Amino acid sequence: MPHKRQYGSKGQTWHPDFVAYMEFIARHPNYTGMPDAYAAENKIQWEAPSNRGSGKFKDTHHKRRDWWRRKARELGISTAAEEWISKTAKRLHPTGKKPCKQCGRVLEIRYAYPREAFLNRIRKVEYVTADFKFDRLEHVTELIRRLHARYGKRILDDLPTLLRASGINVPQSFESLAACLNWIDSQYIPAEPSVLSPGAMSNAPDRFDGFHSFNLCCRSKADTGRHKENLAGYVTDRRVFEYWADGDWIAADRLMGEIRTRLRNERAATGTAARAMQITSGRSRLDFRTTRSSRCFAAPATARRTTG
Ligand SMILES: [Zn+2]
Repeated sequence: MPHKRQYGSKGQTWHPDFVAYMEFIARHPNYTGMPDAYAAENKIQWEAPSNRGSGKFKDTHHKRRDWWRRKARELGISTAAEEWISKTAKRLHPTGKKPCKQCGRVLEIRYAYPREAFLNRIRKVEYVTADFKFDRLEHVTELIRRLHARYGKRILDDLPTLLRASGINVPQSFESLAACLNWIDSQYIPAEPSVLSPGAMSNAPDRFDGFHSFNLCCRSKADTGRHKENLAGYVTDRRVFEYWADGDWIAADRLMGEIRTRLRNERAATGTAARAMQITSGRSRLDFRTTRSSRCFAAPATARRTTG
């Protein structure tokens, strides 16, 4: 096996726990037959970008997509279905969790971590005090356990409202903490509610295991370098705005409209898209939200009421 230092580039070393995880995945029977699994010197070929124009591994991406297609059929997942490849990657993953390439933190690949919109709902509950600490990387079941330990049964009465998410039938009440946690683990998280984030987003066939190498902990840091080149493409992709707006689709709509208008105005004023990119990419999603009037970013419940 190659020395661990062989992984990484441009002064960026990959976390040793991540490298150990790569070795575990590359040897795991679930991934047997992965095309071009090893490059020179037995080095795992973890990344298979779609834009390789030449070289021995030019077609690795396409070969791997075909591998994932065969794997989907084996698992009974229709490749005509939407997101068949991410469904396959999630089903195939042997442990359901992975370390972050950057910092080594292990997170579940499931939608198990609270988005800001969900934490804001909890902050607004009258008896939740300002000293109760929230962490976007805390597993939702752990967060609920802590809330229950601090505030008791009251939180169980409020959870059906706090957990509401489109397309998911939340029980009207929970008889115990154990029943609540069991429902969240077996029903709510697998339904991928809009108020929770995955610990790692899927992106087969670009990565060997079918998941982004950076986990939720380091995802926004990893993204910043790509903002400028991708922003022009982002203005047509609504999902990006939903991500920036923490799953609040009303806010996402407004944000998308606002940025499109700014880009249009900037292009008209300067004749180039470049300046518009600078203006919008220099602004983080949180900055954007705090500079808007509070009316624009009302709580989802209020916003939904006003739009029917
Ligand atoms: Zn990380």
